[in-house]
Amino acid sequence: MDYDLIVIGSGPGGYTAAIRAAQLGLKTAIVERELLGGICLNWGCIPTKALLKSGEVYAQLSHLADYGLSAEKPAFDFTKVVARSRAVAKQLNGGVAYLMKKNKITVIEGVARLEAGRPAPKVIVRPAKGGPEQTLQAKAVILAVGARAKEIPQIGLKGDGETVWTYRDAMTPKACPKSLLVVGSGAIGIEFGCFFNALGAKVTVIEALDRILPVEDAEVSAAAQKAFEKRGLTFRTGAKVTRLEAGGAGVRIKVEAGSKTETLEAEKAIVAVGITANIEDIGLEALGVAIDRGHVATDASCATNVPGLYAIGDVAGPPWLAHKASHEGVHAAEVIAGRAGPHLAAPIPGCTYSQPQVASVGMTEAQAKETGRKVRVGRFKFSANGKAIAAGETEGFVKTVFDADTGQLLGAHLLGGEVTEMIQGFAMAMTGELTEAEIMGTVFPHPTMSEAMHEASLDAYGVVLNA
Ligand SMILES: Cc1cc2nc3c(=O)[nH]c(=O)nc-3n(C[C@H](O)[C@H](O)[C@H](O)COP(=O)(O)OP(=O)(O)OC[C@H]3O[C@@H](n4cnc5c(N)ncnc54)[C@H](O)[C@@H]3O)c2cc1C
Repeated sequence: MDYDLIVIGSGPGGYTAAIRAAQLGLKTAIVERELLGGICLNWGCIPTKALLKSGEVYAQLSHLADYGLSAEKPAFDFTKVVARSRAVAKQLNGGVAYLMKKNKITVIEGVARLEAGRPAPKVIVRPAKGGPEQTLQAKAVILAVGARAKEIPQIGLKGDGETVWTYRDAMTPKACPKSLLVVGSGAIGIEFGCFFNALGAKVTVIEALDRILPVEDAEVSAAAQKAFEKRGLTFRTGAKVTRLEAGGAGVRIKVEAGSKTETLEAEKAIVAVGITANIEDIGLEALGVAIDRGHVATDASCATNVPGLYAIGDVAGPPWLAHKASHEGVHAAEVIAGRAGPHLAAPIPGCTYSQPQVASVGMTEAQAKETGRKVRVGRFKFSANGKAIAAGETEGFVKTVFDADTGQLLGAHLLGGEVTEMIQGFAMAMTGELTEAEIMGTVFPHPTMSEAMHEASLDAYGVVLNA
C-alpha cells in the first residue's frame, strides 16, 4: 500500500477530506491537475466575492449623500478590480498548499484516472510536468473531481472566451462590457449580473422558468427581482433561449416567451445554465461505477458501488455548493477511518451574494405544504429593524416556516443586507432540531439585523413585537 487514502481533486471537498483523514492518522495523498483549492477558491466562490465587493463599494459611492457624505468623481479601474480578485484567489490557493504541508499530506501534481485494484481502485497519475505515469495503490480513494460549466452547443449556448463567456471568462475580462446578456438566473448568473450592473453595464438576465432564483421561496424570488430592477437590471422570465449567435459587434439571443419571440442583443453574454459533473476520462465506465443523472451515485456514507471508492462534492450531485462538498469530505474521511462521521442529512444553507443578498435553508413554504404538513409562516421586514434603518439597509425581509403541529423550524428565507452571514443561525437551529419555543426564547443582541430572525419567528406565532 502506498497510502491509506488517495484523494483526487483538491477543491473544498477534496482538500477538506484530506485534512480530516490526516488528522485521523491516515497516510494521505491528494492529486490535483490544476490549482490547489479547486473551482471554489480559484474560479468560483472566492474570486466572485472579491469582484462583488468592488461592485458593492462602487455602487455605495453613488449613495454617499444618504449618509451625509460626498466624494469627488468616483471611478474604477477595471483591470485593478480583476487583479484584486485574482490576488485574493492566489492567496487562498497558497493557503491550501500550507494546510497540505502542515498536515503532512503528499500533494501530487497531475491528472489522475482509475483502474481496477484491491482493496480500492488503483490511481494512475500522469504528472503535470511530464515524465512517466505513476501507479499508486491505497486502501481507499475519494473522488472529488468537481464539475464545470454546463453548455448547450446545439443552440449556441457555449463559451467562446471572447464574446460568449462561461464563469471563468466572466471573472477575468479585459474591460467591463457596455451591455451584457446573462442566460440563467441561478446564484451564479445573478451574482455576475449584479457585479457588471454595479460597474455600469446594461444587464438583462434571461430565465426559462417563471421566476428568478427558482430554487428560492417564491416570495424571495419576487422581492429580489424588484430590488434588482430598482438597481437597473432587466429580466426576461418564462423566456426560453432558442438560439445564441455571436459575431460582429456582439451577441444576439433569440428567446421565446409563450407565443412571443424576441431577439436580444448585447456586447457580451454569460452562459450560466448550470454545471456538468466531471465524470469523463477517469476510468469510471470500465470500473462499472454507477452514474445517476450525470453524477456519481453514492450511498449514505458517500461510498460508490465500487469497493473502496467514495465520491463527494459537485461530482456526486446537487446542491453544487462548497460547504456541501467539505461536509461530505469530512464525512467520507471519518467513515474511511472507521468512524460514524457527521450527519450527512444536515440542512445545507444556500446563499446568493447579490445586492441585496439572498440566503435560505430548508423547505420553502410551497415545499413544506407539498409534504402535507400544516405550516405556520412568519415574516419580518428589515424596514422595521433599528440596525437596518441605521445602516440604510432596509430592503428585504426574513420569512420563517414552522410545522404547525410540532413547532419544528422547516425553513427560513432571507433577502437583505448581509443575510448570508445570518442564515447560519437558522441552520444551527434546524440541525439542532429546535422548535419555535427555543428560537423565541433565544436572546438576540440589539441592535442587529439578526433581530429580524427573532421577530419573524415570533410573527409565525402571532406575537411579533416590533411590527
Ligand atoms: C462562479 C462560481 C461561483 C460560486 N460561488 C459559490 C459560493 O458562493 N458558495 C458556494 O458554496 N459555492 C459556490 N460555487 C460552487 C463551488 O465552487 C463548488 O460547489 C465547489 O467548488 C465544489 O467543490 P468540489 O470539491 O466538489 O470540486 P471543485 O472545487 O470543482 O474541485 C475539483 C478539483 O478536481 C480537479 N480535478 C478534476 N479532475 C481531475 C483529475 N482527473 N485528476 C486530478 N485532478 C482533477 C480539478 O482541477 C479541481 O481543482 C460557485 C461556483 C462558481 C462556478
